[in-house]
Amino acid sequence: MSSSVIDFVATEARFGAHNYAPIGVVLSRGQGVWVWDTDGNRYLDCLSAYSAVSQGHCHPKILAAMVEQAHRLTLTSRAFHNDQLALFYEEIAALTGSHKVLPMNSGAEAVESAVKSVRKWGYEVKGVPDGQAEIIVCANNFHGRTLGIVGFSTDPETRTHFGPFAPGFRIIPFGDAAALEEAITPNTVAFLVEPIQGEAGVIIPPAGYFAKVRELCTANNVMLVLDEIQTGLGRTGKLLAEQHEGIEADVTLLGKALSGGFYPVSAVLSNNDVLGTLRPGQHGSTFGGNPLACAVARAAVRVLVEEGMIENAARQGARFLEGLKDIRANTIREVRGRGLMLAVELHPAAGRARRYCEALQGKGILAKDTHEHTIRIAPPLVITSDQVDWALERLATTLTQDFS
Ligand SMILES: *Cc1c(COP(=O)(O)O)cnc(C)c1O
Repeated sequence: MSSSVIDFVATEARFGAHNYAPIGVVLSRGQGVWVWDTDGNRYLDCLSAYSAVSQGHCHPKILAAMVEQAHRLTLTSRAFHNDQLALFYEEIAALTGSHKVLPMNSGAEAVESAVKSVRKWGYEVKGVPDGQAEIIVCANNFHGRTLGIVGFSTDPETRTHFGPFAPGFRIIPFGDAAALEEAITPNTVAFLVEPIQGEAGVIIPPAGYFAKVRELCTANNVMLVLDEIQTGLGRTGKLLAEQHEGIEADVTLLGKALSGGFYPVSAVLSNNDVLGTLRPGQHGSTFGGNPLACAVARAAVRVLVEEGMIENAARQGARFLEGLKDIRANTIREVRGRGLMLAVELHPAAGRARRYCEALQGKGILAKDTHEHTIRIAPPLVITSDQVDWALERLATTLTQDFS
């Protein structure tokens, strides 16, 4: 380990708020599925910045679009029109079949914007008495870190000592349609849910759950809001994870891979009704919908489709999952995933997932533990069969070790 590594880590620790516990590697370069540390060691990135770098690190076409736009015009604010926003709207609406688009920056902002919009819809269209709107969410959800959002988290770490929190949210178990049916009241405006719970450890709901959810939401005039910030844009082997369920959300949230990791870009997509309730002055963002963001997002979505990354995610995801299932190790409790959104859950007796991630780092793989016993595996969607096999070999030798 060179002195520079110790320096970066120590300096971060000295000046930074300690709200993260990163793996001890200092990265300075990335290309495709690979990243390099300051000592020149190469790693296969099996986190992809929590799916924000689905297109691979420093994708040349997204980079070119960003540089080209940065030379022309970066920010106008929404006080004026710009010549990128309309094109971004048109392309994302055509791709996803949505009618209206609200551009924001971070994922959490998209979630907050959706919460505001469905409440407004509830009051002005559905006829809920003012101040009474209820939104149903799921236990173990992850929708971001703003105050509004952490208030309806069930993770003590996420919530503790950040209150008081906003009312108006009901929490039900994930994957339980009967619980949704029971929780809906005349004041329910929306059900906000992840198609697959990512941060909770890649939790896939039972088959048929979302068909029933769709049915209940339609029957009760409740907006189904799918947070596809992590599952969307090809991660699960389809453009949107809702396509695995054969349903359509009323409101879809995108972020992360919407910019291919170059720049924070998020969006709320909806039918005409929900976003249609917003009038000038009622919502906004200085950077939301700026020309640089739009140019980057347009390129990020274009390469995803044109370069077959969604199909590749389905193909390589299936190969990866099969390979993980073939690993015979006492440490493994369960392997699960859809597309390239994968997880290995360890037996509690096997020791903490963090130790395995550190061991994987030594073998040239960067992965991140979540919730003590789960290793999440989510490489860029450009991964090849050879790279999947390379990763599987290293995972097999690491998972057969015992770090308890
Ligand atoms: C990452 C994530 C968010 C929050 O996105 P930020 O850009 O970190 O604010 C929201 N929902 C889901 C499902 C996510 O994975």
